[in-house]
Amino acid sequence: AAMRHLPYFCRGEVVKGFGRGSKELGIPTANFSEQVVESFPSDISTGIYYGWACVGNGDVHKMVLSIGWNPFYKNIKKSVETHIIHTFKEDFYGEILSIVIIGYIRPEKNFDSLEALISAIQEDIEEAKRQLDLPEHLKLKEDNFFHLPEGKIANNH
Ligand code: ADP
Ligand code: MG
Repeated sequence: AAMRHLPYFCRGEVVKGFGRGSKELGIPTANFSEQVVESFPSDISTGIYYGWACVGNGDVHKMVLSIGWNPFYKNIKKSVETHIIHTFKEDFYGEILSIVIIGYIRPEKNFDSLEALISAIQEDIEEAKRQLDLPEHLKLKEDNFFHLPEGKIANNH
């Protein structure tokens, strides 16, 4: 069920999240707006995915993505958050994030400790890196979806 909608292409503005402190954990997640999340297939599985991401008309990077229940809306709405596997010089709130979701890693889980959560995310990142090096996944990095028409997006990253 998780794979039925994949690969899934999506583009939208990066908005402020609900301050889970992802950045403090060293794993910032760029949140999509509620409208973008609403446009997702309603039966897409919650959990952790991997794929490619690009901010504005910048370079395409590996990413891990979480589709989860949004505590801000009492867990009746989903949230979609992308951690790009790249070190950015600055935050990019308000910019357009383009992603392609390619594969599913695991379902959502509760962790007994922060250490357990962080190490699970580190494993997700390693799994994403390995998967995305496979030729069939690498080719989506070059997809025309990431090559926006000149001048459409002002900022560079
Ligand atoms: P919020 O709760 O507002 O989403 P986070 O702690 O999750 O806060 O940080 C997310 C923000 O960090 C993003 O919106 C983006 O502007 C910035 N950011 C910097 N580097 C990255 C990265 N590698 N991946 C995702 N977001 C990043
Ligand atoms: Mg976030």
